[in-house]
Amino acid sequence: MGFDTSGLLPLSDALQGMLEQLACCCDSEQLPLPQALGRILASDIASPLVVPPFDNSAMDGYAVRLADLAAGIPLIMAGKAFAGQPYQGEWPAGHCVRIMTGAPVPAGTDAVVMQEETQADGDRITFLAQPEPGQNIRRAGSDIGKGACVLQAGTRLTPREMPLLASLGIATVPVRRPLKVAIFSTGDELKPVGTPLAHGDIYDSNRYGVRAMLARLGCDCLDLGIIPDDPAQLRAAFIRADEEADVLITTGGVSVGEADFTKQLLDELGEIGFWKLAIKPGKPFAFGRLPRAWFFGLPGNPVSAMVTFDQLVQPALAKLAGQRFERPLQLQAVTTEQLKKSPGRLDFQRGILSQGPNGLEVRSTGSQDSAVFSSLSRANCYIILERERGRVAMGETVTVEPFGGLLL
Ligand code: AMP
Ligand code: MG
Repeated sequence: MGFDTSGLLPLSDALQGMLEQLACCCDSEQLPLPQALGRILASDIASPLVVPPFDNSAMDGYAVRLADLAAGIPLIMAGKAFAGQPYQGEWPAGHCVRIMTGAPVPAGTDAVVMQEETQADGDRITFLAQPEPGQNIRRAGSDIGKGACVLQAGTRLTPREMPLLASLGIATVPVRRPLKVAIFSTGDELKPVGTPLAHGDIYDSNRYGVRAMLARLGCDCLDLGIIPDDPAQLRAAFIRADEEADVLITTGGVSVGEADFTKQLLDELGEIGFWKLAIKPGKPFAFGRLPRAWFFGLPGNPVSAMVTFDQLVQPALAKLAGQRFERPLQLQAVTTEQLKKSPGRLDFQRGILSQGPNGLEVRSTGSQDSAVFSSLSRANCYIILERERGRVAMGETVTVEPFGGLLL
């Protein structure tokens, strides 16, 4: 992996190094449409139909032939066309057909004139405006042609895709099985919520963050709880996770001082790289392969764990799960206060982005210490400060990344 002279690995190199090794490991299955919500499409979806399936009216009004209107005299209503009930009668010259939105236009229709542009006197309809040819007609196939690819493999099915698939009459879809991810926290100081703390203990918060993010990504989670800093127990947990899951994600125990301990164990079980990333927060990070499963070792500090998950683990899990992944859009905003920064690492500071009088403005959530969880919970974006940038003065322009679906 491309360490530079600082010994720190750039985020982009770490990400590329991981993604190069990973491939989708989830088989596909066919699921009824409602059950497929949140799953990832295993293949492209081609439209079996044309949409709309027939020429139909976009308005409530009258179907007309332009030739009949040329005389400038009222037309006689020949009958009515409703959605689901096409007009089937004769359509003699000098006549029009009353038509409702979504009704098939009768053969020969040149345009639909909206009701508001007409005056009715019994069956005699006066047209107040001259329609353009094709006006208010939704043509068959104008939205989707037969065989057109409407959704690509790798798309995660959200509420936005459901009506599209249903409109094509698609009852079942090919989707990937969920990625199975085992997790545990390491540390003798960690206690589960709902139990009392002894002096020196803290609550295990990372597992709840990681679980929540895995739920957002649609992964199946095998939660192995808290594993103390004990070689035998750690070894047993690594082996169980490797046997039962596609991926293992742990937090803690990868920083200097602890790394040797975990490293020894992991070197024996698999092939794991222990990296020092050139990002802040989130310097220590481990990635590699156990006999079966992929392994991601996140730093123990809560904010570091969330940020490294979001920036590095999320795209990696997407690839394993067969999902096409795009980062949220990055925007430019003016900072309304000075931001502390020293050159050397890419900073993911936590910020509050808002609309100011002259455009987007951003301010810090306060302490950016990687143990201060409130810096993340009060934020709605990252303030991304380039690696070589130093302190940022008030009024400077910075890059911000609003939190995407994972953190919202
Ligand atoms: P470590 O990476 O294990 O050296 O941990 C770094 C810091 O993060 C220490 O202050 C740990 O107590 C804290 N920490 C580690 N794991 C967790 C966790 N699951 N929840 C909350 N804090 C943690
Ligand atoms: Mg620890």
